[in-house]
Amino acid sequence: VFTLMNCTNTLSNETNVSLQTDIIRIKVDSLLKIMTLKEKIGQMNQYNGFWDVTGPAPTRGGDAEKKYNDLKNGLVGSMLTVRGVKEVRAVQKIVVEESRLGIPLIIGFDVVHGYKTLSPIPLAEAASWDLEAIKKSAQVAATEASASGINWTFAPMVDISRDPRWGRVMEGAGEDPFLGSKIAKARVEGFQGTDLSASNTIAACAKHFAGYGFSEAGKEYNTVDIGTSTLHNIVLPPFKAAVDSDVKTIMNSFNDLNGVPATGNAYLQRDILKGKWGFEGFVVSDWASIKELVVWGYAKNNKDAAKLAVLAGSDLDMESHIYVSELENLVNEGHVDEKIIDDAVQRILTVKYELGLFDDPYRYCDETREKEVINSQANHEAVLDVAKKSIVLLKNENQILPLKKEGQTIALIGALAEEKNSPLGSWRIASKDSTAVSVLEGMQQYTGNNLIYKKGADVSVGSTSFINEVKINTKDKSGFKEAIKAAKKADVVVMVLGEHGFQSGEARSRTDIGLPGVQQELLEAIHKVNKQIVLVLNNGRPLTINWASENIPAIVEAWQLGSQTGHAVAQVLYGDYNPSGKLPMTFPRNIGQIPIYYNHKNTGRPENESGTPDFVFWTHYSDVENTPLYPFGYGLSYTSFEYKNLNLNKQSFQINEDVHVSVDITNTGDLKGKEVVQLYIRDLVASVTRPVRELKGFELVELEAGETKTVNFTLNKNLLGFYDNNGNFIVEPGDFKVFVGGSSYADLSKSFKVANNLPR
Ligand code: BGC
Repeated sequence: VFTLMNCTNTLSNETNVSLQTDIIRIKVDSLLKIMTLKEKIGQMNQYNGFWDVTGPAPTRGGDAEKKYNDLKNGLVGSMLTVRGVKEVRAVQKIVVEESRLGIPLIIGFDVVHGYKTLSPIPLAEAASWDLEAIKKSAQVAATEASASGINWTFAPMVDISRDPRWGRVMEGAGEDPFLGSKIAKARVEGFQGTDLSASNTIAACAKHFAGYGFSEAGKEYNTVDIGTSTLHNIVLPPFKAAVDSDVKTIMNSFNDLNGVPATGNAYLQRDILKGKWGFEGFVVSDWASIKELVVWGYAKNNKDAAKLAVLAGSDLDMESHIYVSELENLVNEGHVDEKIIDDAVQRILTVKYELGLFDDPYRYCDETREKEVINSQANHEAVLDVAKKSIVLLKNENQILPLKKEGQTIALIGALAEEKNSPLGSWRIASKDSTAVSVLEGMQQYTGNNLIYKKGADVSVGSTSFINEVKINTKDKSGFKEAIKAAKKADVVVMVLGEHGFQSGEARSRTDIGLPGVQQELLEAIHKVNKQIVLVLNNGRPLTINWASENIPAIVEAWQLGSQTGHAVAQVLYGDYNPSGKLPMTFPRNIGQIPIYYNHKNTGRPENESGTPDFVFWTHYSDVENTPLYPFGYGLSYTSFEYKNLNLNKQSFQINEDVHVSVDITNTGDLKGKEVVQLYIRDLVASVTRPVRELKGFELVELEAGETKTVNFTLNKNLLGFYDNNGNFIVEPGDFKVFVGGSSYADLSKSFKVANNLPR
């Protein structure tokens, strides 16, 4: 091994990587040989780490006493939510110095959109369609978390969802598997970097495998029942993209899938993930989801649950504590082959080696770096950059935006305008002490106007903790009067309304996704006295804002944008930044339209006998139109763009040939601006019905006023094919259509044919 290690310096990178892999394999195999069965099972056990480390060693007692003993006895392989260098060092020291083999812990943490410096919530970032900015944001998170002793994040969440009632849509990339796959790759690469053993990179975890985003009726922790076509074409692709990007870990999920809970689902974990896709990392269960197999009525008892989960390929037990209590007996009684345990442990140890934890278990514990890196100016600049890019301009009638910089009276209304907590969004458990720049503070930087702030009404929360219920329906209207008075005097009213950061996230499903509390009433009351309103939305999911969309001249979707929220919003409102975000998720007109998403099927009922136009389909409600309020891919700019000359290099292609598509885009306005040029296809006839449109390419282009650029796309068979109902990827010859434009309603289109010598 040492000879091998020494000669790696002189070898090419590729050979070096494969040699390192071999060396790690040899080390893992030798370690496995000297481990007892108990010690092996210990590696498959993960504990939550709320420790009191005010003393020199963690204060022990009660549950902590048991945890301490288990750490010392080599019965713990990983801990999660251990906070800060001091705590990590303390727990790591116990296993390294007091356990027989001294195998370091892998320390996991939900670094979902930043550690202390917070990026926009992931759904917002997805609206940037800017993969470099998204990757950079994950890098910032990794740099800060790794300096604090963390070496593994439970992110990215890559669950596709079509249901904004589900609170966790804020954590994902929206409704589309193509965009979702690109973002999954960017985030994995951002967290893991090119060298996982570097002390500023951390292992990523694509979650929740699989189907969680399809929880029935958007209700948290609900059952999932979807067809094979949706599973393979919509749900799985972002996971596959993460695996192809070398993601080190996968987390399974709370839901069942067509009757089999994900944690006990061998089809998902063994056949697809570890089999077909060749995933070599490890699978962590979701919180206590192994034990929950009993609650599902899928396992008889804890022992049965441990058996089913391990056989199905769940390698690490997060917080069920039943691998450590049940697996030894299961092996000794012959119910579980020790080879299964070896395989799981080998996967876990390999990631620990790759992270460099065996070389130095404290290498991520760096107080100096912790001080230097966390909340550094560079990190705040990076999150400000992605925050601006995440903003979506939904409406701008009569060019009410950008605001004039001087000489105006501006009334700023809404409790969220002064919020320094809510804009951080859900999932920021390391950042109790972090605050955001509020919209009020951001706007105060522009001193040329007379800015009057009035709250109007509260979006009150009972508690900002993760678990406690959020009080949403505040009825107090006592602030209306003052707000109305301010609005009467103002040239323009800016209203910051929406959800508090803790109204979305885990366990935050809602059946009413309008503006919570009395905010809608406040909006209407202000509108009665001043129509010049700019509505700035803060939210973790699409909202139903039909009334606002009809009556308010300007609407800015500003999500929850993290630490730099106020600066990002103010720069967009005042035109120092020209917005270019596009919606990653459809906005419904009302709750009854859900699920509503752009890549739906056409159904068998044409609108009339003469044909089946793409978006006109007879399936309908009798009380609301078929179209959404704002479609996927939609977003405006302060300038305007025109698309022309959509061209294909040919009209007919062989199945292995690339299809070259080009389009000219012109900035027809007076300002420099960016546009996300989107390409969609439709497979007109196929052996499995295909969506009316599917995103297959996009490019972010920047254009000076008056400038034209040609944008090129290449479609190959990987983009033209799809998964059949057995999960096999197939490409079928036939007629296709390509659409290019600035949203999923892109109206330039061309037809082409893919031929094959073989008849279908
Ligand atoms: C969530 C996971 C998270 C885990 C650890 C669970 O409740 O579903 O996404 O990573 O907790 O905090």
